[in-house]
Amino acid sequence: MTVHEYQEAALRTLNPNLGQKDVLINGVMGLCGESGEAIDLVKKHLAQGHPLDKAQLANELGDIAWYLAETAAAIGYDLETVLEQNIEKLKRRYPEGFDPARSLQREKE
Ligand SMILES: [Mg+2]
Repeated sequence: MTVHEYQEAALRTLNPNLGQKDVLINGVMGLCGESGEAIDLVKKHLAQGHPLDKAQLANELGDIAWYLAETAAAIGYDLETVLEQNIEKLKRRYPEGFDPARSLQREKE
C-alpha cells in the first residue's frame, strides 16, 4: 500500500457531514488525542511498572496516521507529499544522518 492509497482508504471513513473547517479541527484535535493515548501507554510502562503494550501502541500509531491523513486532506495536501517534504527537510538539516553538533547549532539559531 502506498501512502496515497492509505490516505484514500482512511478518508473513506471520514464523516461526510463535516465541513472543511470541521475536518481541519477534527484532524488536529484527533492528532492530540491519539498522541495522548500513545503517551499514556508509555507513561504507564515507565512510571507505573506496566509491561509496554506494543500491540496497543502500534494501534495508537495507526490512529495517529488516520488523523494525519485527515489533517493533510483538510489543507489540500496529499499525505505522501507531507511525508516527502519532511524527509527533504531532514536531509537538509542532517545530510550525513543525525549529528548532535548540528542539532546544538540549530538550537542557537
Ligand atoms: Mg486510539
